[in-house]
Amino acid sequence: MNSKEKAYCNQCKGYKDHYIVSQFKKHIDSSDYSNLPVDFADFEWKILFCSKCFSVTIKETFLCSESDLDSSYHLIPVEIYYPEREENSRQKKSFLKVPEVLDRIYNEIIDSYNMSIFTLCVAGIRAIIEGICVNLGIADNTLKDKINGLEINGHLGHYKADILHELRFLGNEALHELEKPSEEEIKIAIDITEHMLEHLYDLDFKKTELQKLKRQRII
Ligand SMILES: [Zn+2]
Repeated sequence: MNSKEKAYCNQCKGYKDHYIVSQFKKHIDSSDYSNLPVDFADFEWKILFCSKCFSVTIKETFLCSESDLDSSYHLIPVEIYYPEREENSRQKKSFLKVPEVLDRIYNEIIDSYNMSIFTLCVAGIRAIIEGICVNLGIADNTLKDKINGLEINGHLGHYKADILHELRFLGNEALHELEKPSEEEIKIAIDITEHMLEHLYDLDFKKTELQKLKRQRII
């Protein structure tokens, strides 16, 4: 039986035992390469196999004489996984009634956030607000007027329309004034976007489902 080690599994969404199905190590120093810029370097490659879902991961470990030191003055190895581990990634929400075109833009927003492409992420948030307005039949020219149109037509209360204007300002700064938004700002902007999609599309559906179930129970 192969030996095992714990690693984050992108499929199982958690740390799972992985079988080490193959392992290869390489040590190099100045006797191998006269131009080597460090005294030595150690490489290790492993092919890992998740014991739960059988997905395959490659792990590369690198350490050299110039690596950073920990508090006990030991060299710290660098570990790289292929494909990249997703334990810190934002998970996509599943919506029930969000139109396909808006769901596609939402997925692109989360993909760009997880790849730290923040300006494109903000462009996506702006695009999804435009898309919501078009989908709900608000045909004003500017995004400002469209958001006001959502309020006037009863899709949003004044408070929520104000929040959408905040997202609009964030988009203006990132796209027109080339101000780089912070990760924290984007995180909150995505939270608001998800809330708006749920409020505008899913909540009514859930209310109808609840009423249907209640009626069935009473009958
Ligand atoms: Zn797995």
